[in-house]
Amino acid sequence: MTMDNQQKSVPHRQRIATADTDQFYQSEQSLQQRVDSSMAHQEIDTPFHFRHCCWFCQEPTEIRLLFPANKERLKDCDHQAISLPICRECKSLVRSSQSDNIWQCREQVKKALAKRYQKDLAIGKNWTKNELANAGFEGGSFEGFAKSGWEMFEIARDRVNFSGWPLWCNGDQIVDTTIGKQFVFDGVTYADIDQAIDFYVKTYALHRDFFFACINIVTIERFAYAIRYARMFVGCTATERRTALQDLKAAD
Ligand SMILES: [Zn+2]
Repeated sequence: MTMDNQQKSVPHRQRIATADTDQFYQSEQSLQQRVDSSMAHQEIDTPFHFRHCCWFCQEPTEIRLLFPANKERLKDCDHQAISLPICRECKSLVRSSQSDNIWQCREQVKKALAKRYQKDLAIGKNWTKNELANAGFEGGSFEGFAKSGWEMFEIARDRVNFSGWPLWCNGDQIVDTTIGKQFVFDGVTYADIDQAIDFYVKTYALHRDFFFACINIVTIERFAYAIRYARMFVGCTATERRTALQDLKAAD
């Protein structure tokens, strides 16, 4: 473990609060500057129980996202201009120029969130709640990590998993164009299979091409098996990995 883990022991809610820095305000201002104020962004319908929630991640909402930001982007957008409640952190992750509709925008924000909280999400892969509580870190440098680590994992997981609510605006539904792309594995929803592969490559230091080849052999339905197999050959030579793939093919 590294110093970075110790810094991550700061409770997540506090980290959200400390995100309200000049840096975040500046990025918000620069985003706002690109918003065309002459456009009429229609508020989406928000269910009562979600009235204080960010549509992307369910954290408390602090701000509204106007999407698309200007008339130029509206030409490529396949729905009307909308306004929806989001949190300040998610807003800092929005790159509206990369999205032709709000669902693509959500996919991009989810990927950015998962990337930012990769280490928090990895806690749930490397520990169980009980293991972390009984890890014997009391009084040591990692005491804070042991105490708040599981909570950090749960918060990151819940933010990434939150599916928002159906988008209705002026009686029209804005249909989700990303249905079918998401990949759910071990309690976490990934924007797509590539993101899940990236996550496990980083979490377990897997050889990417080797892991990919394992998945191709055993199929995506046996993703857990591919992970277990690839983990056995971390640090092996290219020759050893080639032999391992031949063995896997023969056994499959
Ligand atoms: Zn959010």
